[in-house]
Amino acid sequence: MIAIDTLTAGMTDVTAGYLIDAPRPALIECGPALTIGSVLQGLAALGLGPTDLAYLVLTHIHLDHAGGAGDVAAAFPNATVVVSEHGARHLAEPDRLNASSARVYGPLFDTVYGACTPVPAERLRSIADRDELDLGAGRVLELLHTPGHAKHHLGVVDPDIGAVFSGDSVGVQLPGMTELRPATPPPEFHLDAALRSLDRYRERSPGRIYLAHYGPVDPADAVLDQAEEQLRRWVEVAEQARDEAHTLGLTGTHELDHVAETLQHRFHVRWPQSAEAADVAEDDARLRMLNDTRANAAGLLRYLHRRDTGDLTELG
Ligand SMILES: [Zn+2]
Repeated sequence: MIAIDTLTAGMTDVTAGYLIDAPRPALIECGPALTIGSVLQGLAALGLGPTDLAYLVLTHIHLDHAGGAGDVAAAFPNATVVVSEHGARHLAEPDRLNASSARVYGPLFDTVYGACTPVPAERLRSIADRDELDLGAGRVLELLHTPGHAKHHLGVVDPDIGAVFSGDSVGVQLPGMTELRPATPPPEFHLDAALRSLDRYRERSPGRIYLAHYGPVDPADAVLDQAEEQLRRWVEVAEQARDEAHTLGLTGTHELDHVAETLQHRFHVRWPQSAEAADVAEDDARLRMLNDTRANAAGLLRYLHRRDTGDLTELG
């Protein structure tokens, strides 16, 4: 297994792709469309010819993971693009995905991500829970539906190396961070689904988790326990802050501001003291882009609202 830095936003250590070396090689995640050239160069530098890639596996169709899927499909004409059954149609016709992403990402849509490129429908394989991918020579990947971060999220289990490729379902931990941060963006974050997804990983007893943002973390059982604790704490703090906002008569963006500020204060990331100021500034920029506290707050508020109005069933 080889990590490939997608060089998202021209920065290192933002989003990783993982190439699984096997008779039928699989790339897990390709990153955004705008920087797909660096991924294609990386694959070529590893000696992968145009006919060599068998699969592109997407944990979910957010643009930081899947935006360049159409470009990878074009560069590797034998590759099948593997995605959850709930995400496939959006990759074949990404107009709705792009429109909603442009709203969510604001100016970053043009400067960091770029529009998702379509994948021809006949190149897509939509995955049901527990489907397997045959990589040849007895290597098999198991694909699990792991909603929570997004309704259509997949986790990828590689039993041969005892690994889970977790996309965003376990959280985000960039180099230099000592703890995971949950990724709870709107509109689909769902606490109970996210916790069940962690349990499904536990059942596989992996040794190591490969985060899309960024890199391997272990031992997996401790990582999964920390992910669960952090999810519960963020939801708890967001709920308290929301109730406080209501007591203060804050609504709309003022409510969101209050919840985001409370989360920021409570879960402020401290970078290593030895780090140079310029490095800290870049680390902060990376984290804001990927896992902005305000976006997490918006997702948590939406979740709490739907939970309290009994409107969560379709997300589970
Ligand atoms: Zn992501």
